Amino acid sequence: MNYYCFYYTFILQNYLNNFINNFINFLVGNYSENEFKIFRLQYGLYRQKSSYMLRLSIPYGILNFDQFFLISYISYIYDKKYFHFTTRTNIQFNWIKLFYIFEIFKKTFLFFINSIQSSGNCVRNITSNINKFLNPTPWGEIIRQWFTFNSEFLFLPRKFKISILSCKKDYIIFKCHDLGIYIKKNFFNNLIINFLIGGGLGRTPVIGFYILKNIHWNKILNYFDKIVRIYNIYGFRNNIYKSRLKILIKSLPHFNYLSFIYKEFNYSNKHIYFFNEKNINYFFCLKKNNLKNYFLKKKIIYNNFFLCWLKNNIFNNFLFIPIKNNNTPSGDVNYLQIKIIYYFLNKTFYIFIFNRQNLLLDCSYLNIYLIYLKLKKYFLNIYNSFLITDSICCPGQDYCVLANAKSIYLLNIIKYMFLDFNTIFKLGKISLNISGCINSCGHHHVSNLGFLGVNKSGENYYQIYLGGNYNNFCSLKFSKAFLPSVSNFKIFYFF
Ligand code: SF4
Repeated sequence: MNYYCFYYTFILQNYLNNFINNFINFLVGNYSENEFKIFRLQYGLYRQKSSYMLRLSIPYGILNFDQFFLISYISYIYDKKYFHFTTRTNIQFNWIKLFYIFEIFKKTFLFFINSIQSSGNCVRNITSNINKFLNPTPWGEIIRQWFTFNSEFLFLPRKFKISILSCKKDYIIFKCHDLGIYIKKNFFNNLIINFLIGGGLGRTPVIGFYILKNIHWNKILNYFDKIVRIYNIYGFRNNIYKSRLKILIKSLPHFNYLSFIYKEFNYSNKHIYFFNEKNINYFFCLKKNNLKNYFLKKKIIYNNFFLCWLKNNIFNNFLFIPIKNNNTPSGDVNYLQIKIIYYFLNKTFYIFIFNRQNLLLDCSYLNIYLIYLKLKKYFLNIYNSFLITDSICCPGQDYCVLANAKSIYLLNIIKYMFLDFNTIFKLGKISLNISGCINSCGHHHVSNLGFLGVNKSGENYYQIYLGGNYNNFCSLKFSKAFLPSVSNFKIFYFF
């Protein structure tokens, strides 16, 4: 991307050198497995059931096509020819050999993809929505530059996640992040920002609340700095389950938190971070949209199937690419799918990873009807967006060491129960989310129908959650546990 300058290349080179030194020490035997663990987690390297897993961070979910193709290439050479989109818009390789990590880093760093702060107790990632009219990506990039290698916040009490929203339709579960900013325009057409803190999913699902409202956009980093600093000072470090910001907020009422923030402004320099409109414009990489596609209008009149597809798959002028097949787990993309997408869509500049483990493309420069024909030819489930087959699923017991039950297995059972398009369309838009354990990577709390894996004397059981709603962040509602957990054999009775 154009804003990665010389200094960033220099930082990445240093990062790589540091990795080599420590990795050689581990191979030679100077470090034990436990000592190496502390180090490798800072590089997004996890140890899973049968192999190592590498998580590459994709800030605010944007990739260009060269980066996308590189990731596919890495999955082809070093993995099992597929990779995985996570619900936090990152990318994971589940079958990486430790010996090849250096080669992978070397190749990804050339394209400015990295695994910096993709795991560990630090500011981890930014999730943002997509909106052409109020583009949140420049803010995402500014925040990314603020938290990457910010030495003060590299050892927080626990992981910290940030969300950015700039429209009312909420696909990113805005209120379920530690810190969220809502960008909007006020009555005088000025940009203002509302700050929300204390949200989260996992063991204790909490909806965050607004702590500061109507802040001018050029003060955003000063407030970020103070909010995270207060958490760093007062957050609990003695208990891993109580160290998130949402727990701190419960014991420290929000007006106290606010007073600490204002006190912090008195102690430290009032305005450390300055930026102006020129800085912001520098990051506006997306060009303006023109949706005057006459060819498209003509086809809408004559092709009813195309019209139906448009209605389902284009929102906010972004095209939804169906990558979930009936025979693959949600979020897994193989190299053949990437190859097809690359060949017929390489005119677009950017690709967005959607937190429902899907892809979105900016369709300003695309011939939409041609894409429709090609998708129809190569992808089976092109009418899949937001239907029951477009489900979210975490890796579960197949890969993850923390899992209680298998989630891909359950997803496959459900998918094969809904092979008939008539039934799927009759059900309409429904979100089905599955998590393999209480960590809730599959976001089962914010679904219309959710499953949580439970282990009961070695058997796979599932707790059923019903009634959540998250399409509009104003009316966000968690789903509730429904009946005692049931074994995988009894799941059939519920459909
Ligand atoms: S929800 Fe649990 S099982 Fe699923 S990926 Fe997260 S930690 Fe692993």
